Amino acid sequence: MKTSSHAIIGAGLAGLACARRLHAAGQQVEVFEKSRGAGGRLSSRRRLNTTFDLGCQQLNAVTPEFIEQLALWQNQGWVASDDQSTFYGSPRMSGLTRQLSSGLKLHLAKRIVLLHKKATDWWLEDQLGDLYGPYQQVTLALPAAQALPLIKYHSTALSNQLEQVEQSPSWVAYFALPEAVKVTNHTQTNSSAASPLRRWTLLNTKPEQEGELQKWVVEASTQWSKKHLNLTQQVIADKLFALWCNDVALSIPKQPLLLEAHRWLYAFTAKPLNLAYLQDSSLGINLCGDYCSTELVHYSFANQAEAAWLSGDKLGQQLVKLG
Ligand SMILES: Cc1cc2nc3c(=O)[nH]c(=O)nc-3n(C[C@H](O)[C@H](O)[C@H](O)COP(=O)(O)OP(=O)(O)OC[C@H]3O[C@@H](n4cnc5c(N)ncnc54)[C@H](O)[C@@H]3O)c2cc1C
Repeated sequence: MKTSSHAIIGAGLAGLACARRLHAAGQQVEVFEKSRGAGGRLSSRRRLNTTFDLGCQQLNAVTPEFIEQLALWQNQGWVASDDQSTFYGSPRMSGLTRQLSSGLKLHLAKRIVLLHKKATDWWLEDQLGDLYGPYQQVTLALPAAQALPLIKYHSTALSNQLEQVEQSPSWVAYFALPEAVKVTNHTQTNSSAASPLRRWTLLNTKPEQEGELQKWVVEASTQWSKKHLNLTQQVIADKLFALWCNDVALSIPKQPLLLEAHRWLYAFTAKPLNLAYLQDSSLGINLCGDYCSTELVHYSFANQAEAAWLSGDKLGQQLVKLG
């Protein structure tokens, strides 16, 4: 069988879905990721000998493909669910992406800053000036704004499409409380844009996440995050904790053992494209990610991971067909 060599930039759910299809079909595939671990917005952070899911909190499915995929992952022990409708990475969100990346050739802590086309081949340049290649196909599995600088010198048509996409930021605060607090609700999503808090989640209520410390993640709304985009992490952590105490907690017996914040610049897709993925087969360049599917992104923000997986998986299938 003829095999192509593929470089995938971005080891989030979309990039990993695409890479797995290619790897399963016997194609040569290498994945480049700027962070020290795979997962992207499904990442978890280790603190106080435990972990906090910092981005995506839950997986839900409306398409038959993703419903089937979640069932498969559940059988493999990669996700868990109490009700068969909402699923969680096992034992944390990054547990799923760790499993998805196993067996793949992964280059971690490699931020790709330039793509070079030499004759029919692609070469990738990282932040240190090191070059990787040659590849016949390059796939960018990144938020649209992070993909744009990489392709703008190679394809005006694809750049114009990426410029249509809007992805909005979200600040999150995460904290651990030494004693259980009384709360109005353990997990809640606010649909009102006017509310500064989009959602708060008691991580201990997720399967396999029990423990003595109460671990919370509080997400700010898009509007609030944009307004406070450039404040420091500590100022944001204090502000979000105060808002949560005010809105949610009935009493706080002791101060948090840990209180930190993380800024996601491209958390959610506000304006997606109506395509499964983007491709220029004559150039050998492809793009996938959660911003591709209009239907899922508008269905609910808790289906954006589904959109990412479907986009990467469908692109992977198409690349396998191309050989
Ligand atoms: C706070 C928050 C809460 C969320 N909650 C939910 C939820 O409950 N349910 C849901 O379905 N969705 C949720 N989402 C959305 C969901 O997480 C995303 O839709 C999905 O994870 C996107 O996957 P992706 O592969 O398209 O992109 P990403 O996960 O962003 O992956 C892109 C990867 O590319 C890497 N990268 C970027 N630039 C470069 C470069 N130049 N070189 C190398 N690597 C690079 C990044 O580090 C990243 O790992 C949430 C997101 C956030 C931030």
